[in-house]
Amino acid sequence: MTYRAPVADIAFTLKHAAGFAAARRDGIFDLADDLLEAVLEEAGKFATDIIAPLNRAGDLHGTRFHDGVVTTPPGWKEAYRSWAAAGWNGLASPEPWGGQGLPHAVNAACIEMWNSASMAFGIGPVLTMGAIDALAFHGSDALKQQYLPKLISGEWMGTMQLTEPQAGSDVGALRTKAVRAPDGSYRITGQKIFITYGEHDLTDNIIHFVLARLPDAPPGTKGISLFLVPKFLLAPDGAPGARNDVRAHSVEHKLGIHASPTCTMVYGDQGGATGFLIGQEKSRHGLHVHHDERDAARGRPARRGDRRDGDAAGRAVCARAPPGPWRRHGRDAIGADHRPCRRAPHAHDHAGAHPRGARDLLRNRGRDRSQPSYG
Ligand SMILES: Cc1cc2nc3c(=O)[nH]c(=O)nc-3n(C[C@H](O)[C@H](O)[C@H](O)COP(=O)(O)OP(=O)(O)OC[C@H]3O[C@@H](n4cnc5c(N)ncnc54)[C@H](O)[C@@H]3O)c2cc1C
Repeated sequence: MTYRAPVADIAFTLKHAAGFAAARRDGIFDLADDLLEAVLEEAGKFATDIIAPLNRAGDLHGTRFHDGVVTTPPGWKEAYRSWAAAGWNGLASPEPWGGQGLPHAVNAACIEMWNSASMAFGIGPVLTMGAIDALAFHGSDALKQQYLPKLISGEWMGTMQLTEPQAGSDVGALRTKAVRAPDGSYRITGQKIFITYGEHDLTDNIIHFVLARLPDAPPGTKGISLFLVPKFLLAPDGAPGARNDVRAHSVEHKLGIHASPTCTMVYGDQGGATGFLIGQEKSRHGLHVHHDERDAARGRPARRGDRRDGDAAGRAVCARAPPGPWRRHGRDAIGADHRPCRRAPHAHDHAGAHPRGARDLLRNRGRDRSQPSYG
């Protein structure tokens, strides 16, 4: 199915339903309608002409994983690099660091087009955008100077790393460890799973934003801190230098978005990856900072594209398999303990054991029956 970006509809919605005129009148931003239309027009062309044609081929080809190296589908790297060179990554990023400072609503409209053209393409940059916000609002000046310009230009991409085998929604159960080093940095050890674009060949460096726990941190979410962990540490001239102690162990095989590498990441084979604190240690600060990043990532994608993808995944799960103990998730609905990963499957291991999980599954089944096809 060919995607054609609905530029006129998006422009109309922004101008007449999203309060653009009121925001301009109130001095929130100063963006003329003709400039808004020109930006949307160009984004629409890129999404329609460059990204959309890659979607099906990318999904069929998927990402290849060999010896810790991820190779994206043919054409993916060229498309990403020309997308970044055109300035789309920094559309709403702060101007002092090389961004264009346009309203987030305009960026959201463009993200609608990237995601609708190819969700596998769109979800990588969206995480970089979230990482940029986390660093810009909470990072030290030194970290900002070293990393922000390249993240904003899209020369480097960012990741968001919360999830672990025993810690999904229950992020407070995470065990990745951060230990203070004498030079003020930290050594990170542990494992993360389901990491979108955790490893790839699109950029020369990948900047991971990782939640971890200090040894003296309290249990639960209170003890979580956020660290910036580059794939390559920076040489004195700011270019990627020595390889850091973090690697992709594998790429997930999933139901869809095959061109997006969803990776398992391993930290600390050689004693610990070097990480740099963002915000403050513990006191939930790391989690809040990461939530800003996650909310940015979730809030920005196209609602329509997102919902379709979510619906499709939900239907596929309901139609093809009963909820089962493929993987032990988080905590029991009835118990407070964090369940060890290696014990035998338990009746409460599937998502439907949680009241909200049961509600979601029932709702999806209801939808499945009442809406047999997409309108
Ligand atoms: C394609 C893909 C890409 C991803 N990319 C990233 C990424 O880049 N970085 C990252 O960190 N993670 C990533 N994730 C992981 C994602 O954030 C987790 O899947 C998510 O946090 C849910 O965790 P879980 O899978 O363990 O599900 P669970 O936490 O087990 O949840 C399953 C269901 O049970 C419900 N539930 C859970 N606990 C409760 C409770 N106490 N009460 C009521 N209901 C409950 C949930 O709402 C959900 O409906 C990705 C996942 C996928 C599928």
